[in-house]
Amino acid sequence: MKCPACELDPSKLVLRRDGFLLHAIAQPTPVKGWLVLTSERHARAWYDLTPEESAALGPFAREVMRAQLSALHAEHVYAFAIGDVLQHFHLHLVPRFAETPAHHRGRAAFDAPASEAAPQAEVDAAVRSVMAALG
Ligand SMILES: [Zn+2]
Repeated sequence: MKCPACELDPSKLVLRRDGFLLHAIAQPTPVKGWLVLTSERHARAWYDLTPEESAALGPFAREVMRAQLSALHAEHVYAFAIGDVLQHFHLHLVPRFAETPAHHRGRAAFDAPASEAAPQAEVDAAVRSVMAALG
């Protein structure tokens, strides 16, 4: 069976560090700057990370969220670890903007139909801004 995390589209990769991949969400989305922090190895959930991976995760996520706030002028960044599907721990880091409509706020962002997706060029530009802020 194919594993979408092991076969991540290299064009989506932002950063690789400490056993994690930081990458743009693969699906079309209305939320610009939506990033995902994914374990490089198979680990079902947060509780399967090693102590070293767990220790690296918090500071890494914090750094990314602060870059999303500053580079995108986001009001807030959500962190979601649901883990129903992939065999890789992954933390969704989802910016919320002043103009984010109510039906894209919180976990509702996951249910946005493809018809509401932002143009891919805008989504890619937002990811590049966050990448630049990460240095
Ligand atoms: Zn995999």
